[in-house]
Amino acid sequence: LAEKLQETFRRLKGKGRLTEADVDEAMKEVKRALLGADVNFQVVKKFVQRVKERAIGQDILDSLTPGQQVIKIVRDELAALMGGTQSKINVSPKPPTLVMLVGLHGAGKTTSAAKLANTLRKTGRRPLLVAGDVYRPAAIKQLQVLGQQLDVPVFSMGDRQSPVDIARAAVEHAVGTGRDLVIIDTAGRLQIDQEMMDELAAIKAAVHPHEILLVVDAMTGQVAVNVAEAFNSRLGLDGVILTKLDGDARGGAALSMKAVTGCPVKFAGVGEKLDALEPFHPDRMADRILGMGDVLTLIEKAQASFDADQVAKLNQKIKNVEFTLDDFLEQLQEVRKLGPIQQIIGMIPGLGSMKKMKELGDIDDKELVYVEAIIKSMTPWERNRPHEINGSRRRRIARGSGTSVQQVNSVLKQFEQTKKMMRQFSEMGKSMKKGGRVP
Ligand code: GDP
Ligand code: MG
Repeated sequence: LAEKLQETFRRLKGKGRLTEADVDEAMKEVKRALLGADVNFQVVKKFVQRVKERAIGQDILDSLTPGQQVIKIVRDELAALMGGTQSKINVSPKPPTLVMLVGLHGAGKTTSAAKLANTLRKTGRRPLLVAGDVYRPAAIKQLQVLGQQLDVPVFSMGDRQSPVDIARAAVEHAVGTGRDLVIIDTAGRLQIDQEMMDELAAIKAAVHPHEILLVVDAMTGQVAVNVAEAFNSRLGLDGVILTKLDGDARGGAALSMKAVTGCPVKFAGVGEKLDALEPFHPDRMADRILGMGDVLTLIEKAQASFDADQVAKLNQKIKNVEFTLDDFLEQLQEVRKLGPIQQIIGMIPGLGSMKKMKELGDIDDKELVYVEAIIKSMTPWERNRPHEINGSRRRRIARGSGTSVQQVNSVLKQFEQTKKMMRQFSEMGKSMKKGGRVP
């Protein structure tokens, strides 16, 4: 999915001006890509419709090209489709909080129960795992082994008691032992059947869980969504744990789940290990699907932290090709406000792999101290004429800043590269400005 969309967007990005036909063409590709990823047809149709409406008649932000705007809209709408913001589990004001996991055989309930205990324990909860699958003899043992690995207590009454009685007794046990989070593992079936639903409904009626989470296998695509609909209509789900997302490159289930069932995905299973459970972030998932890195986060961050006047001044200087070492230093310091340089470069798609950017990226925070020392050791005359800094000047600067001549050389080289790159960016900026609005 990511590959197809990326290609579409590459084409879109290159355009200065977008016509309605461009948007239509891009949306056709997006539609095809989503359907290919096993996203529900109705969801795709509505999604494309919404993006088109927003893309057309959109005011252009100065900072983005029309192509980038469309991409931003697609990204925002994808995130909205998956629930927008990250959904947390319901916590009972009066402990313990009861979480019940339901789902079909092999979906990952037992594993997820243990993972959830592990994750939530890190936020200060004191979990109790409850072995409520009494039909498969190995199921109880499986949970006990996982509990042992995590050093989390497992409540079990063997396989002779009913799951309802076990759940009731487990809650009492949790109260008695000061456990504030009870995670109930339940029995699944190969397919949805009446007996399973009745049993789960009986557990629900007996202990009133605060959170009923469906565990489904992402690899099953639309089937996972159908399963969720069935469980939701009978039990009323609070959310979904989507497992095996590590094996599903298509992401179709993640995309359709909220839109079709109304239930947000709250956690994603991303591996077999017990730490392979992540809170599900719709925006990050959208980025992953689009394969864009965190480019928009970067844009937002940059907008927030760069001083507009300064940027204007800098742009003026670039245009007049009088970008100096002083500016270079100032700029490095600005960029550093955004976060570690490596991370910033990683967020810019395409640039992470550019050799020049890699070299720039090699400036870490420690090195910045050297860069600063080196530039400060230059005279104002030198700072304005970096290409006239000869060997003896370089040696003096190195001595003055407590660095080596190689370091001085490398700073001067990085400066030249940056200057060149900035000139390219400013050329790009000019062509962006020329691009009109999306009709
Ligand atoms: P249950 O029948 O619903 O209780 O399913 P289990 O918890 O026993 O899991 C079934 C299989 O799926 C096990 O082999 C797990 O290791 C595996 N599994 C569960 N979650 C994930 C996941 O997020 N990623 C991967 N790769 N495997 C998983
Ligand atoms: Mg199980």
